[in-house]
Amino acid sequence: MKSPESSSKAQSRPSWDKYFLEIAKVVASRSTCPRASVGAVIVKDNRIIATGYNGSLPSEPHCTDVGCLVINGHCERAVHAETNAVAQAAKMGLAIDGATMYYYDSLNRPSGSCLKCSQVMAAAGIKRLVYLGGELDINWLKRLPSESK
Ligand SMILES: [Zn+2]
Ligand SMILES: [Zn+2]
Repeated sequence: MKSPESSSKAQSRPSWDKYFLEIAKVVASRSTCPRASVGAVIVKDNRIIATGYNGSLPSEPHCTDVGCLVINGHCERAVHAETNAVAQAAKMGLAIDGATMYYYDSLNRPSGSCLKCSQVMAAAGIKRLVYLGGELDINWLKRLPSESK
């Protein structure tokens, strides 16, 4: 017996955006800061260049083991997922100019990335940010604090 879904294989394939957002969710499962699980995937020409999740610097203790280092309401021990993904690309010598950043946030915050990550992404040439809440462009990434709301 044939189910309606199997009648058209093309219809059952996710869009590229949905596909990379699902991957970002899996990446987020590696997060080591219990305040949020966040995953980031840098994509260029529909190919994954780098990934990142929020967690401590390499070889440093994890928030899940020693607790968060909270200053002004933010954990300063964990490097944010988006910045970690840009750092991974830099470490591997991979160009990300013109790339798209896919981002999953377990808290589903509607605000998108924080200002610091946005600045890092803009500086590295990321042109588009796609997350569960929608899509943001380079002009949003380049916003200033007074324009951030
Ligand atoms: Zn933490
Ligand atoms: Zn951030």
